[in-house]
Amino acid sequence: MLNPKPILECVAPSKIHYSKPSITDLEVRYVTDAAATGWAEHCYDYVERVEKEFAEWLGVKHAVATSSGTGALHLGLVALGIGPGDEVILGDINWIAPAAPVVYLGGKPVFVDVLEDTWCLDPEKVEAAITPKTKAIIAVHLYGSVADMDAILDIGRRHGVPVIEDAAEALGSRWKNGKRTGTMGVYSAFSFHGSKTMTTGEGGMFATDDAQLARSVTALNALGRAPDQSKQFWPDMIGYKYKMSNIQAALGCAQLSRVEELVARRREIMLAYKDRLADLPLALNVEPKGTANGYWMPTIVANRDVSFDRESLLNDMRAHNIDARVFFWPLSMLPMFEDKPENEVSYSLYKRAINLPSYHDIREDEIDRVCEVLRRHI
Ligand SMILES: *Cc1c(COP(=O)(O)O)cnc(C)c1O
Repeated sequence: MLNPKPILECVAPSKIHYSKPSITDLEVRYVTDAAATGWAEHCYDYVERVEKEFAEWLGVKHAVATSSGTGALHLGLVALGIGPGDEVILGDINWIAPAAPVVYLGGKPVFVDVLEDTWCLDPEKVEAAITPKTKAIIAVHLYGSVADMDAILDIGRRHGVPVIEDAAEALGSRWKNGKRTGTMGVYSAFSFHGSKTMTTGEGGMFATDDAQLARSVTALNALGRAPDQSKQFWPDMIGYKYKMSNIQAALGCAQLSRVEELVARRREIMLAYKDRLADLPLALNVEPKGTANGYWMPTIVANRDVSFDRESLLNDMRAHNIDARVFFWPLSMLPMFEDKPENEVSYSLYKRAINLPSYHDIREDEIDRVCEVLRRHI
C-alpha cells in the first residue's frame, strides 16, 4: 500500500488534498461501457444492478439509487408522511443534509446535543426532546462513528417514533450486533458524493427492509408514477425526480466491487494517524468495543484543557500546502435556526476540532507532514 515518495517532491511539497476518490481503470471501463451502450432498452441496466448489488452487500431487501444522499433522505421523509409542524430530532453537530429536507416539508428540525466521544446523538437528550409532535429521529453516524442504536431504537419503539439512519458517512461501519450501519432504522440513506468512501460523483442510495416504503420511494422518485401503473404518463400523485443516471450507476458498480478495499484503506489511514498522534492531548474517531468504524474521515478534537487555536492551525496547514477542514458547526448556530447554546457538547466540540486529509492514495510521508504541522499547534 505504501507508495514511494516521488523525486520531484524533494523540491516542493506536493498539495495534500482533503479528500479525493480512488478511480482505477476498472471505473473508467464501466463508465465507458455505460456511455457507449447504456441507452434505449439498456438505459437503466447499471442503475438496476447497483441497486441490487448494494442491497446485497449492505444486507437489506430494497435499495433505490438517487441523485444525492439528501434526495434519499427527502424521499424517505415524504414516504413516512412528514409534514407541516412535525418535529424531527437530530444531532446539533451535523452536516445540514439531513435537516434541510425536514424544512422542505414544513417540519421542524429539533437539534439535540451529541456525545463527547462519538459525536453522535446523546440518547438521554433525545428522550428529553420527544413531544407529541415528534414524528421521526434521524441518527446520523458522524464521520463513520456509529450512533448508540440500541438506546435510540429503544426510545423510538417506546414512543412509537420511527428511527431513520443517515449512514452517508458510515459506509463499512457496524454496530455491536454485527449489523452494518444503514440496516437498523426504518430506512437509511447513503451518499456517493465525491468526498465519500464510495463515489458516483454525486449520488446516493435509499435502503430499507420495508417493501411498502421501498415501493412508495420508487414511485415518489419517478414523479409519482407507481412501478405497477399500466397507464403511460400517469402519475398518481405529485412526486420528485432524484434519479441516479446510468453512467453514474456504472461508476457505482465499479466502486462497489472494490468496497471492502476502499473501507480497508480508510482504516489503514486512520490507524496511521492514531499511531503518530497517540502522545498528544487530543481525541480521534472512536471505535467502542464490539463496533466497527468505517473511519470515513480522520478527525482530531483537542482536549478541553489545552489551548488550541483552530484558525492558526488551519492557516499553517494551508501554508504547507495541506488542505484540512473545520469540523461541522452546530446547525443551531446557522442563521436559519434558533441558537441552542444549551447543547454544551456541540458548542464546545466544533472549536476544538478539525478534519485531517485522507484519501485512498495518500502516502505515509504525506501523513507524516500533516502530523508534523499539527504537532506545532497542540
Ligand atoms: C454527505 C452527507 C449527506 C448526503 O450528501 P449528498 O451530498 O446529498 O449526497 C447526508 N448526511 C451527511 C451526514 C453527509 O455527510
